[in-house]
Amino acid sequence: MILNTLFSVAFKNEIGKYEIKDITIFEIKDMNFLFDFFNIQLVDGSLMVNFKCPICEKWHGFTYQAVDLFKQELIISGCKTLGVPVVFIGAREKIENITKRYNQINGSMYAAF
Ligand SMILES: [Zn+2]
Repeated sequence: MILNTLFSVAFKNEIGKYEIKDITIFEIKDMNFLFDFFNIQLVDGSLMVNFKCPICEKWHGFTYQAVDLFKQELIISGCKTLGVPVVFIGAREKIENITKRYNQINGSMYAAF
């Protein structure tokens, strides 16, 4: 098994677009605030993600097994109130594909108004 230590984080901003940043597993401690209102930490093999939700404006917190990230699983965190995806964490390629799709959906929604 090849361990993946570089991955990307996509975080939805207030206008519904995803911003993507690359991070290595080793940088997590130093990059607590990867985005404004977004906090990621690695503690004892658990990946903890906290963010201020751009949809309902409350803070949501999630805990994952860091091993899922190494196995190149895509981690999706969303609004606990509305169940809408807000954060994607995983391989750059997967993140780009999925956010492209969501940005297009949003784009066509805006175009319809
Ligand atoms: Zn929310």
